[in-house]
Amino acid sequence: MVKKVLKFGGTSVGTSKRIRHVADIIKQEHTAGNKIIVIVSAMAGKTNELIKLSSEISGEFDKRELDVLLSTGEQVTCALLAGALVKLNFKAKSWLNWQIPILTEGDHTNARIVNINIEKINKYLDEGGIAVLPGFQGISKNGDITTIGRGGSDATAVAVAKIFNADSCEIYTDVDGVFSTDPNKIPVAKKIDKISFDEMLELSSLGAKVMQPSAVQTAMIYNIPLEVKSTFSERKGTKILSQENIDYTKSVTGVAYSKDDAKITVVGVEDRPGVAANIFEPLSKAQINVDMVIQNISSDQKTTDITFTVKREDVIKTKKILIEDSGLNHDEILTNDKVAKISIVGAGMVSTPGVTYKMFRGLSDERINILAISTSEIKLSVIIEEEKTLKAIKKLHTIFDLD
Ligand code: ASP
Ligand code: MG
Repeated sequence: MVKKVLKFGGTSVGTSKRIRHVADIIKQEHTAGNKIIVIVSAMAGKTNELIKLSSEISGEFDKRELDVLLSTGEQVTCALLAGALVKLNFKAKSWLNWQIPILTEGDHTNARIVNINIEKINKYLDEGGIAVLPGFQGISKNGDITTIGRGGSDATAVAVAKIFNADSCEIYTDVDGVFSTDPNKIPVAKKIDKISFDEMLELSSLGAKVMQPSAVQTAMIYNIPLEVKSTFSERKGTKILSQENIDYTKSVTGVAYSKDDAKITVVGVEDRPGVAANIFEPLSKAQINVDMVIQNISSDQKTTDITFTVKREDVIKTKKILIEDSGLNHDEILTNDKVAKISIVGAGMVSTPGVTYKMFRGLSDERINILAISTSEIKLSVIIEEEKTLKAIKKLHTIFDLD
């Protein structure tokens, strides 16, 4: 008998019909002799709808009350799903965050789970019961209801799997698994059977929105194997595991892209020690995250251009800080937010020479100009003009044998 955590996302529980279908999946798992803890998201769109309601009351709606409000989305799906299981003649019960309790620390709307009481639920599982728990929430030590950040049901699933010492943690969603690139854009994208935590983390933070990055990170730290699979098909999903469990035959596992970056160039700054520090210190103080940095060679030995990327939403603030706080002499500041970040990710890159060259050659064959570059051990990212995004992903997908 194994203990399984099964998490169902918003689309999977988006209608009463779908909830009945989820109950059928759980029925199969339970009938196969497994102990089942279910985690649910709110119905798709519900959390956004509740946020909108709160903003109609106030633009600065009280955070404590926002958590009370938002936590109701999962309360609804918990009850409907437990009711659907009871209807199928199973012993099943929903638990609310304070009834378990799921203890959290940290600010309202951004708390994190620190402990979960396992006794009552374990006893219930031993008696053959199916426990249905709400994702995305908990209570503080003062007894206030908290939520743990958007998309937080994934984090709840991973925390539950860890604290209950579950044998597996399965994330049911509306896609078949993790793909080599966005299947909506590139039809030849392939489902990945196995991927390492590190690669998944890179892909999910680079814009592949299958799982919440911080949940993947927790799973990695505690080595909790995950499986992402579809609620709506019987196909095998993607296993997310530690690297030792994967045989790498390819250097690149996936191609990701994101469109939330912008490029800033400070033209004609003095080429002397301390200038870069003067630019980036006030930005870091203002909590602006700088991703890639390039300093051009100074042709006249006196001035240089410094280019870097920030999140698009930070462009105006960045420019203001550079003008007002950096004490910099410069000719002008150029900004471009019509850029995209394209990344190749693969643990196999470490042992394969020439990946960088192959990527750059591929892009140049397509006449795509590289505006900035950054690398890590298992990732290579470039900034390009946004309009070339699709062309770039297609080319990289092909040359790294992912089609
Ligand atoms: N319902 C929450 C949200 O939409 C949590 C989740 O779905 O994971 O952010
Ligand atoms: Mg989600």
